[in-house]
Amino acid sequence: MGSRATARPFLGLPLLVLIIAGTACSMPACGGTQGESAVGARESAVGARESESESASESSASASASASGLPDFRAVAPAPGPTGRAIAELEPARCRAVLRELDIPFDRSTDERARGIVPAPVVPTGPVNGIALEFEGRRALHRVMDCRLLVAIHAWAPILRAAGVTRIRHLSAFRPGARVRSTGEASGHSKGLAFDPRFFEREGAEPIDVLEDWQPRDRGAPPCGEQPEDGEEWPPLPPPAEGEENGAILRGMVCEAIRRDLFQVVVTPHHNDAHANHVHVEVVPGVDWSWNG
Ligand SMILES: [Zn+2]
Repeated sequence: MGSRATARPFLGLPLLVLIIAGTACSMPACGGTQGESAVGARESAVGARESESESASESSASASASASGLPDFRAVAPAPGPTGRAIAELEPARCRAVLRELDIPFDRSTDERARGIVPAPVVPTGPVNGIALEFEGRRALHRVMDCRLLVAIHAWAPILRAAGVTRIRHLSAFRPGARVRSTGEASGHSKGLAFDPRFFEREGAEPIDVLEDWQPRDRGAPPCGEQPEDGEEWPPLPPPAEGEENGAILRGMVCEAIRRDLFQVVVTPHHNDAHANHVHVEVVPGVDWSWNG
C-alpha cells in the first residue's frame, strides 16, 4: 500500500551501531543531541529474509490471525481523515484544522525551541482516537510533536484498539538537534516528526513492553517480512510461537501501520541495541520511499 521498495538512500555502519548503541533511544531518528545510531541495515536485512518469507507463504494474515486468536489487523477499518502518505504532506494550518475536525485534543506549543524548527508544534492533551499518550521522560519539551505525527497516531489508533490498547507510554517525540548518529543527518525527532513508543497498555490484559515482548528479534531480519515492490502486497506475518503471543500482537500493530504507510521510517529491536526497548515511528514528508528495519 504505497510502500516503496527503495531502501533509505543512505546506509550506515551496522558494526558501528553495535559499538555505539546502548542508550535508550537512538536511530535513524532517535538519538538525542548525543547522536544517533545507523539506519542502514539493508545488507543484514536482505541476508535474513529467507526464514521470514518462508513462513509468510504458509497462510494468509487473516487465517493465521484467526487461527491463533490474534486480532485481524488488516481487516480494521481506517480512521476518518487523512491516511497514509497524505498525512506527511499536510501543511501546518491544514493539519491543525484536521486535528479540530477529528476531535483530537491538543494545545499549540509556544516553546521557543520548537519555533521555526517544528512546522506545527502541538502537545496532545487527551486521548487520541481512544489512545492516551503518556510521556515517560522528564523534559516536557519532549512531549511536543509536529501536528502530522499526531494525525498519524490518530490513523494508527484503530489498529491499536483492535488489540485492546488504550494507552501508549513513549520515550520522546521532539528532541531539538537530534541527529542520526551514523550519518549526521537530522533525525525525525529534531523536527517533532518521530516518537518512540515503549509500552502499549491494554484493558484487561498485561501491558505489552517492547523490551520484553518484541520476539523474535533477530538482528537484521526484516521485522515485517520482505518489503514488497510497488503495487505488491506485504506478506502475511507468521503465526506466533508459543509464549510469543504478545510479540505477535505488537508486531501486528507495527507492521499494519507500515503496510498502511502511516509512517515512512520504522525502526524496531531488529535494528540495533539502541532500539531494544522501543519502536521508532517517523513521518517523513516529501519522499517516495519508506524504510523499516
Ligand atoms: Zn526514535
